[in-house]
Amino acid sequence: MGLSKTKIIAAGCLVEVLGKEILEKFPELDGAIGVHSYGQIAQFMDNLFEGKQVFIKNRSSEEYQSIAPRILTTPVYSANVKIADGCNNRCNYCMIPAIRGPYRSKAPEAVKGEVEALVAAGAKEINLIAQDTTAYGLDQSDWPDLPALIKEILSIPANFKIRIMYTYPSRITDDLIDLIREENRICKYLDVPIQHCSDEILVKMGRLYKQNDLENLFRKLRQKIPGLALRSTVMVGFPGEKRHHFNDLLNFITKQKIDNLGTFIYSEQEQTPAADYKQKVPARIASKRYKELMLRQKEISRANNKKYLGHRLPVLVEGKISNNTDWYYGRTEYQAPEVDGFVYFPSSRELKVGSWVSAVITAVGPYNLLALRANPVDFMPR
Ligand code: SF4
Repeated sequence: MGLSKTKIIAAGCLVEVLGKEILEKFPELDGAIGVHSYGQIAQFMDNLFEGKQVFIKNRSSEEYQSIAPRILTTPVYSANVKIADGCNNRCNYCMIPAIRGPYRSKAPEAVKGEVEALVAAGAKEINLIAQDTTAYGLDQSDWPDLPALIKEILSIPANFKIRIMYTYPSRITDDLIDLIREENRICKYLDVPIQHCSDEILVKMGRLYKQNDLENLFRKLRQKIPGLALRSTVMVGFPGEKRHHFNDLLNFITKQKIDNLGTFIYSEQEQTPAADYKQKVPARIASKRYKELMLRQKEISRANNKKYLGHRLPVLVEGKISNNTDWYYGRTEYQAPEVDGFVYFPSSRELKVGSWVSAVITAVGPYNLLALRANPVDFMPR
């Protein structure tokens, strides 16, 4: 290790899992820093460029406070705001609680301040994220819960939309549902990762609900929030998943008509209880189930998207599909960034990224929507 200007470091989860051993395993590393050590980054860099091999991994109670202004790495019009770190759930397949520690809500004033700054800089869409957004505030006796936090954020006098991601099914409260229905600055969209629906598999996964709870929840969400788009995530090939468990999942997804579904194949994580489970599902079968589920979901999403045909929807412009065309793409409130589809539309007028258009949907596919005309509109047409 010399005094060269190029350094190779490892930063993040693997450092938490392997500890100092990471420097032995990968001797080409100049340094390694864990996920909590925001406050030591300057010292880490100084030591690194003094030619020392540096290792920092700590977990102080102040680690999650905002220590510097937020630097956006996403386009300015759409920003993720992390409202908490860590997780108190104990899903038996997941290393996150071991890596990121117990759930720590970010102070409500810090969340509000971050949103204020982002909105002032031009953010039109604020995506609230955490390992479990619905656990917000439950770790602090006198802090607001998620609905109260959102009300705080909505007191910011500006036009922007809030999108709620990563909710835990059994913690979606009536207060939250009512707020989503009543407040037009909250997207009529909810991300509810369920992972599975079979009671036997849910117990093995360590998820704290049953299929009946999910059915009741989805029924209530659809009844109380007209037009709600639901996103979920499921896992196939979990140890012990038999064909009948998988059929149960297929039937559930078909019946619930989830709008957007992410599917993962179970991947074993060392040091988790599930890693010791017997009855592993062969990779070939897990992959077959994945394809079967995605194929079924394709039909469901295409059928669901037909409800938008002929409707005029506000679309947040994300960009042009290429420089030598007048076709653009953007997203409605029913499509989250990075995980869902787009609306494609032509415009003879040059459109600004991050502006709004109003588009009449004329054709739909399983993932994307098409509009043959879109008119620029002032902010927040709904
Ligand atoms: S899967 Fe999600 S909810 Fe479960 S322990 Fe991991 S981070 Fe927490």
